[in-house]
Amino acid sequence: MTNNSETVLEIDLSALEHNYNFFKSLIQPSTKFLAVVKAYAYGSDAIQIAKKLESLKVDYFAVAYVNEGVQLRDAGITTPILVLHPQPSNFEVLIHKNLEPNLYSHRTLELFLKLASEKQLENYPVHLKFNTGLNRLGFEQKDITKVSKTLSSRDVLKVVSIFTHLAASEDLSEKDFTLKQIESFNKISKEFYKKYGIEPFRHILNTSGIINYTDAQLDMVRSGIGLYGYGNTAEIDCKLQPVVSLKTTISQIHIIKPNQSVGYNRKYISNKDQKIATLPLGHADGIGRQYGNGQTFVLVNGKKAFIIGNVCMDMIMINVSDIDCKEGDPVIVFGKSLSADDFSSKANTISYELLTGISQRVRRKIIK
Ligand SMILES: *Cc1c(COP(=O)(O)O)cnc(C)c1O
Repeated sequence: MTNNSETVLEIDLSALEHNYNFFKSLIQPSTKFLAVVKAYAYGSDAIQIAKKLESLKVDYFAVAYVNEGVQLRDAGITTPILVLHPQPSNFEVLIHKNLEPNLYSHRTLELFLKLASEKQLENYPVHLKFNTGLNRLGFEQKDITKVSKTLSSRDVLKVVSIFTHLAASEDLSEKDFTLKQIESFNKISKEFYKKYGIEPFRHILNTSGIINYTDAQLDMVRSGIGLYGYGNTAEIDCKLQPVVSLKTTISQIHIIKPNQSVGYNRKYISNKDQKIATLPLGHADGIGRQYGNGQTFVLVNGKKAFIIGNVCMDMIMINVSDIDCKEGDPVIVFGKSLSADDFSSKANTISYELLTGISQRVRRKIIK
């Protein structure tokens, strides 16, 4: 085992390739694959992840915001990039960087059309999102007539795809609701095809959708969390490989006596002689206070060490009373031997939040 001398987030690109091939194997060869690389590729490193996936010939990328797409373009990524939630104030940059907006409302459509017309663009690729029950972003079925009219008035924009997003694809107790969403989208696309006169490609499924509703793969699927090694069920997780591992090291060990306290506000009080270790990461690195006070453990030399007391901004203290360890020893916060899903569930959250919260202060280390 390497002896890290600081906190690092290791990013294993061969695990990414494994996960990509796993999801590709669940769908038809003709179905396109969009890799979601928003939020620094779920807290890892969007540029390195995108470069690897581009080399594997992924069909599309998606980011949430324009600046995320700009970073990818500036790093030399040439694959089409769908911007899921672009803000009109960034439309100019979006066009300049050849990014493709999701237009989800009359306001965004009209503002984008106006700018594209002023720039005398022709057939600029755009995507339309329809709301089928998530009630977050998207046009409604009743908007189709107006949207088609707006688009057909000039050939400034070209709708290359239409899509919707599932509210509960991982939750099989909501199967009826999900099937209704899929059915609504089918109706919407039929009506849109008729009124627009062109048939853009269609997509619905995120990671859990690919797993649970494979028949609804249509022309493309959009996977995020699965690519990073988490499939929202233990059954799938064992077939995937976590891409990132958060590793750190023991900065200092203290021996404390009964009734001594540890950390701010004295939240931990020892009841016997104990050995505690201080780690160089804290809530500013993305391990929030919800993980403190015994909620979660990390691994020291393969053994569980619970976080004690309040998580500090830059440090965490753990109980290593029963562990043979010394200053400088490596610590695994989460990764292959302790999944981010398990770690996060101890504090009532999900892998998505834990992963995307690892802050930019933590050094990223690419493993090829
Ligand atoms: C984030 C996002 C995804 C990816 O979802 P996963 O569950 O991570 O696969 C797909 N589609 C849209 C619209 C999203 O916002």
